[in-house]
Amino acid sequence: MEAIFEKSKYKKPLIIAGPCSVESPEQFKNSIAPLVQKGINIIRGGIWKPRTRPGSFEGLGSIALPWVTEVKKDLNFKFATEVASARHVEEALKHGVDIFWIGARSTVNPFTVQEIADSLNGISIPVMIKNPVNADLSLWIGAAERIQKAGITDFAVIHRGFSNFRDVIHRNSPLWQIAVEFRTLFPEVMMINDPSHISGKRSLVPSISQKALDLNFDGLIIESHVNPNTAWSDAEQQLTPEELLKMLQRLKTRKVHFQNQQTLNQLEEIRQQIDQADHDLLEALHRRMELVEKIGEYKKLNNVSVLQLERWKEIFKTRPEWGEKLALNPDLIREIFGLLHQESIRKQTEILDQK
Ligand code: PEP
Ligand code: MN
Repeated sequence: MEAIFEKSKYKKPLIIAGPCSVESPEQFKNSIAPLVQKGINIIRGGIWKPRTRPGSFEGLGSIALPWVTEVKKDLNFKFATEVASARHVEEALKHGVDIFWIGARSTVNPFTVQEIADSLNGISIPVMIKNPVNADLSLWIGAAERIQKAGITDFAVIHRGFSNFRDVIHRNSPLWQIAVEFRTLFPEVMMINDPSHISGKRSLVPSISQKALDLNFDGLIIESHVNPNTAWSDAEQQLTPEELLKMLQRLKTRKVHFQNQQTLNQLEEIRQQIDQADHDLLEALHRRMELVEKIGEYKKLNNVSVLQLERWKEIFKTRPEWGEKLALNPDLIREIFGLLHQESIRKQTEILDQK
């Protein structure tokens, strides 16, 4: 079979869409027909749903698979679903599922990933690997390696965000830097963004999709349901097919590179200025650390403790304020000074404990 996840095959972004779950033959067909007619030919649909809490709808299981086969007689598309065990793989293969994905709750568990990988050995099928629920880049990479070792060469990864305790905006915090790091390490692997599971609410799906394109993601997987409010799972985050198509039209794709010599020259000039600014920044850090060490010596001499809470509180309050006057994001300044404080404590403790 021809590879699906081959970057050069597509004009970005690759779009995968369809309902969170397959609920009935009619619901499935009506959810996807308008999409397939507009050329979206990779369709998602949950058959087995891993739910965080028992009692939620857990997917209809194998009985829904013949419905997909039935709809394929009228509409031309490839069907992708989540598999979480060797039995799912077997059932799905029996019914001609074209693409598998490994869900976030499976990617966290190497036993589960290995079981799926073993069941795929010798089989040629495209596989997508969602990031694990927790913010652990190695687990994500490890899952990709297990699948690759099983002989699967046609695979992509899906960035669906990470479980969190206090992110009131997202259902799963995007932590974009983890996806960017994955891409830096494996630039040849197709990276697909899942704005539906990151946002948890349909109003945010367009802005997250656009951000993914701004960051040069290769594709989007988006949940779409003919009647989202009645959906048996993830009702709040699904778009109608019409809303989805309208949104796709509005998305802006970006060029990967600057295209003419003049803009390139200007870019080079600004980058040289950034190099200089970074040198200045490092010089300032060096000076600051020297002063920190001096204070360390002074504390040692007077046998005073390293942590001076009042002074630290003052720094943590004033620096974000000073930064804000310079139009710097106060959260960034807090983050930077938090790190500087840790390093100062480490250095001064070292000085105090020197014989
Ligand atoms: C899904 O795609 O419907 C799903 C359950 O996703 P995740 O594994 O990202 O939670
Ligand atoms: Mn879902």
